[in-house]
Amino acid sequence: MPRVLLIEDEASIAENLLYALRTESFEVEHRLTGGEGLEAFAEGGYDFVVLDLGLPDTTGFDVCRKIREGSEVPILFLTARDSEVDRVLGLEMGGDDYVTKPFSPARGGGADSGDSSALQRKRKKGGSGGWRGRLRRCVLADRSARA
Ligand code: CA
Repeated sequence: MPRVLLIEDEASIAENLLYALRTESFEVEHRLTGGEGLEAFAEGGYDFVVLDLGLPDTTGFDVCRKIREGSEVPILFLTARDSEVDRVLGLEMGGDDYVTKPFSPARGGGADSGDSSALQRKRKKGGSGGWRGRLRRCVLADRSARA
């Protein structure tokens, strides 16, 4: 069973994601801050990280950078700002994917409605099939459910 580490400080968003992921049989650990998240990650054993950009003690960018010092684990970012997307997915940051929030109906529920040019470039380099794709669909389904 894939193990997911969710780093998100907003309780309502975290609860919805935890529910959606566990329903899909992912094993999920949740941490509220970047510091706690990095501690949990250091213990090892995670197959995927879902990472909020706006954390109380640091930013998702810094957390990602620290994870990337020692791991190529797939990272899916949660971001509130479209302007951050290309930066998130840039090769420098090493993000693998993203979902924008709040999960508003105005943005639509289509899985590809928010794809940036950087993401499209990444997609050309390699697919996101298997359970990684399943995880992303799961997070996006949660967005649709809230919309
Ligand atoms: Ca946040």
